[in-house]
Amino acid sequence: MQKIALIGLGAMGRPMAENLQARGFLVTAMDISPEACAGFEGAMVPSVDALQKVEAVITMLPEGRHVKDAYDNVVLPGAPAGSLLMDCSTIDVETTNALAEKATAHGFYAVDAPVSGGPEAAGKGVLSFMVGGSTEAYGRAAPLLEAMGAKCSHFGPSGSGQAAKACHNMICGITAMAVTEGFALADSMGLDLAQFYQLCCEAAAQSWIMENRCPVPGVAPGTPASNDYAPGFAAALMAKDLRLAQAAAKASGQDTPFGAEAARMFTEFAEVGGAHLDFSAIYATLRNSAKAV
Ligand code: NAD
Repeated sequence: MQKIALIGLGAMGRPMAENLQARGFLVTAMDISPEACAGFEGAMVPSVDALQKVEAVITMLPEGRHVKDAYDNVVLPGAPAGSLLMDCSTIDVETTNALAEKATAHGFYAVDAPVSGGPEAAGKGVLSFMVGGSTEAYGRAAPLLEAMGAKCSHFGPSGSGQAAKACHNMICGITAMAVTEGFALADSMGLDLAQFYQLCCEAAAQSWIMENRCPVPGVAPGTPASNDYAPGFAAALMAKDLRLAQAAAKASGQDTPFGAEAARMFTEFAEVGGAHLDFSAIYATLRNSAKAV
């Protein structure tokens, strides 16, 4: 498979497209924003005609409504039947299943393949994929997944990739709140935070979030906190993913009280101006709300 289209040239889609191009794929890149298209050779606003000869279409868009819009107006009318449709966006399971059903009925192979890993991993082709779709569709997706990712888990039928992603990111969001609260308390009790950070990284509190997203500026070099909270992973995306997990929890009847609280706190933080900062910037809100009694 060589000719592919990639729709959505944002923080993730552009480095994914560049990585695929570097690995020999012929990439037709599309985005509704002319600014997002700038600087990528041949990039264009979404076009039905330009999809007619592709073998696969990758979408990397913000939310379910954007993916639905692209599928209804461009992908399904434009791409040839029999081609592979791979949605790498993080969206709700319900929209994923509805679009996969429609795509399959039109003769396409559909997979949901949301990712873990940010723009840097996308550029290097070392993302982690969580995939849902039929065995046949997954088989067709394999060469693209190998080109874009270091790890890939096929969870089962359509929607199961998004289900895994919702659960995975809920764990990350809850962990982020735990790490943030731990550092707020450590600071309020006058501990040396650099020493506390070292301890946690080598003891039972260790996690990827602990090691890479310590929320206090100046404690861990190379973290967003030590770089004015430049993302990283923006608080708006964290809030969105936690709300997706809450929707999934509601639909499946499972109580997730920690997830619900993390969703509430990150949504509130995003709404009061933190949306474009790294999620670890929520530390200032939490630390300042600490009151001595
Ligand atoms: P982004 O906002 O940077 O980019 C989205 C792009 O989609 C924009 O350029 C926008 O113009 C374009 N777009 C919107 N609607 C469109 C349409 N109908 N047709 C064509 N283009 C359209 O978003 P991002 O950070 O690249 O994230 C994309 C997806 O990946 C999201 O679902 C996000 O949750 C997920 N994700 C992001 C990260 C990250 O670190 N940024 C990590 C893992 C997963």
